[in-house]
Amino acid sequence: MQNAVVVVGGGPAGSFFAYELAKRGVTVSVFEEHPKVGVPSHCAGHLSIRSLKSLGLYPLPEGVVENEFSGANFYSPNGAKFAVHLSSPVTCAVNRVLFDRYLAEKAQAVGVRYFFGSRVSSLLIDDGFVNGVNVAQGDKVEMQVPAKLVVDAEGISSRLTRQAGLPTPKREGLVYAVEAEVENVQNVEEHAVEVYVGNDYAPGLYAWLIPRLDGTAKVGLATRSGNPKEFLQRLMRRHPVASKQLGNAKISQIAFHAITLGGPVSRAYGNGFLAVGDCASQVKSTTGGGVVFGVTCAKFAAEVASQALRDGDVSAEFLRLYQKRCDDALGFDVRVMLKIREFLNKLSDEKMDKALRFAARTGLGGALRDIEEIDFQGRTLFTVLKKPSAYAALVYFASLYLSANA
Ligand SMILES: Cc1cc2nc3c(=O)[nH]c(=O)nc-3n(C[C@H](O)[C@H](O)[C@H](O)COP(=O)(O)OP(=O)(O)OC[C@H]3O[C@@H](n4cnc5c(N)ncnc54)[C@H](O)[C@@H]3O)c2cc1C
Repeated sequence: MQNAVVVVGGGPAGSFFAYELAKRGVTVSVFEEHPKVGVPSHCAGHLSIRSLKSLGLYPLPEGVVENEFSGANFYSPNGAKFAVHLSSPVTCAVNRVLFDRYLAEKAQAVGVRYFFGSRVSSLLIDDGFVNGVNVAQGDKVEMQVPAKLVVDAEGISSRLTRQAGLPTPKREGLVYAVEAEVENVQNVEEHAVEVYVGNDYAPGLYAWLIPRLDGTAKVGLATRSGNPKEFLQRLMRRHPVASKQLGNAKISQIAFHAITLGGPVSRAYGNGFLAVGDCASQVKSTTGGGVVFGVTCAKFAAEVASQALRDGDVSAEFLRLYQKRCDDALGFDVRVMLKIREFLNKLSDEKMDKALRFAARTGLGGALRDIEEIDFQGRTLFTVLKKPSAYAALVYFASLYLSANA
C-alpha cells in the first residue's frame, strides 16, 4: 500500500489535519484503532463558537450542537457565587461522537481513506527518519505501511510520540478526569454552564455541569490526586449548590480519561514526523479544553506538510516551521494560561471563596459582558483589563497570589 501521509488517530486533530492536507491534493490515510470515530467518547465538548467559526466549522450540522451558552456561574466550595452573563451565546456544547464523525466525513469527502479497527503499533524508522508505521488489525499479521510523512494524532497516550524521541505531555501537568451523562438535573439555567472550583471538590482543575434543554447534562471534573469518581460522588452529595442540582440525578454513562494541562511540548516535529493535538499537549492549561487548540495546530501542520511534500523535504529542519507557526499563533496565550493555572493551583479554598465574593461585589461580571473570545485567554485578559472593575480584580487576585506564595 503506498501512502503519501499516514495519520494515526481519527480524533478531531487527526481528521482535521487529514481534511486540510487532502484538500491540497495529497493522498492521506487515517488509521483509527476503534471500529468507529468518536467512540468511546470521554469529552464534555464545550467549545468556543467564535473559534469554530474561524476554523470554518460553525454552524455545525443539525444535531451536533446540544446547547449554546451565554452565561457561566462559578461557585466556591462553600457556595459563594460569581455569575457572568454575556450579551450573546459564546460557547456551545457538541455531541463529541457526532462532532468527530462530522470531521471524519469532511475528510472522506476530499478523498481521505479511513482504516478502522487498525491500531498503529509502532513507527518504521530508517536512518533517523520515520518512513511508515506498523499496523495491527485484529488477528491479522501486522502490516507495514510506508509513508513519506507520519502524523501522530493518537491523543494523550503519546506512545508513538515517545518512540519518535519527542517530548510528551508533562507528567506533573496531568489531571485525571471523569465525565458523566446525568438525567434529572434541577435548578440550573438553560443557557449557563455551572463551574465548581476549589480543592475540596476538584483539586487541580474544577468540576462542571453542562446542561441540555431536556433535563439531562454532562457533569464532570478532574483532579490531580485521588479518585475522580469519589470526588464526583462528593460533589453530587455534599456541594452546597451542586447537591441541590444533582441530588436526584441519575448517572446513565460514565467515562474516565486524563487531561494534559502542562502546556504544549517544546518540540512536536522530527524527521518525517509531526505530532498534533493532545499527544503534543496542545491544550488550554486553564480549562483543559484541547479541541480548538489541537485543531488549530492541525491546520498549521497541514500547511507545513503540504509545503514540505511539494519541496520534497520532510526533514526536522524543514518541519520545525510547524512549531514556529504554533508558537507564533498560540505562544503568548499559552504562557498567560500557564501562569493563571499556577495561580489557581496555589489558591486555598478560603482564598478562592474570597476571590469569587470580591469578583461578584465589584461587578466584574458586567466588565466581562462583551467577551467573545474564550480560547485565546492572554489576549482576552488584556482587553478586559481596560475596565476598572477588572483591573481592581487583578490587583486583588495578585495580592492573593503574593500571599499564597509568602
Ligand atoms: C473529561 C474530559 C472532558 C473534556 N472536555 C473538553 C471540552 O469541554 N472542550 C474541549 O475543547 N476539550 C475537552 N477535553 C479535551 C479533549 O477531549 C481533547 O483535547 C481532544 O479530544 C484531543 O483531540 P485529539 O484528536 O488530539 O485526541 P483524541 O480525541 O484523544 O483522539 C485520538 C484518537 O486516536 C486513536 N488512537 C490512539 N492510539 C492509536 C493507535 N495507536 N492507532 C490508531 N488509533 C489510535 C484513538 O482511538 C482516538 O480516536 C476534555 C477531556 C476530558 C478527558
